[in-house]
Amino acid sequence: MPEPMLRQQLCDYARKLNSSGLSVGRSGNLSVRCGDDCLITPSGVDYQQLSADDIVLIDLHGQGSEKSLQASSEWHFHCGIYRSRSDIQAVVHAHPTYCTSLACSHRTIPAFHYMVAVAGGKDIPLAPYALFGTEALSAHVSKALQQRQACLLANHGMIAIGESLPSAFNLAEEVETLAEQYCEVLKLGTENILSDEQMQQVLDKFHDYGQRV
Ligand SMILES: [Zn+2]
Repeated sequence: MPEPMLRQQLCDYARKLNSSGLSVGRSGNLSVRCGDDCLITPSGVDYQQLSADDIVLIDLHGQGSEKSLQASSEWHFHCGIYRSRSDIQAVVHAHPTYCTSLACSHRTIPAFHYMVAVAGGKDIPLAPYALFGTEALSAHVSKALQQRQACLLANHGMIAIGESLPSAFNLAEEVETLAEQYCEVLKLGTENILSDEQMQQVLDKFHDYGQRV
């Protein structure tokens, strides 16, 4: 997709981040890969006022033009993901209520439901805590996402990644729904975690399904 269209898509999805309830106000940020660089939402701009020109182009080490707005303070982990995962085209980061609640109690999302496999594995991992906007947090994130398309961030929020911005965004919404369901299961007090073998069957079936569509 050409750069002007990617800029517009980022604006549309930044507003959707607010309207979907995934993140309120300015919390949360988005990026897409653009050639050898990436386009990312700016720091400190209300997404309702965001225009395509406000989107910031940076290289995969965070360097951009002095004339552009300042990139989101979380550019470290956005760039880190693009450097470590050549298959990934988009990153969505948000602080939705249920994912964030689980992340604050230092829980992963285990295989309590087969749809957990939508994030690419048998659980949705938790990246350990590090200060926001640091290379330390980026290193934790890259490790958690080595074989997954989503993770929780301890005492912070969540990240979903994908082959396009719509697919990363849809995954973020699905993971938040799973987190909400898992919080309800925890209230009931009985978790019935699917076995590795059962989850492998789901992953195999998802893989076959993916090849058909
Ligand atoms: Zn954040």
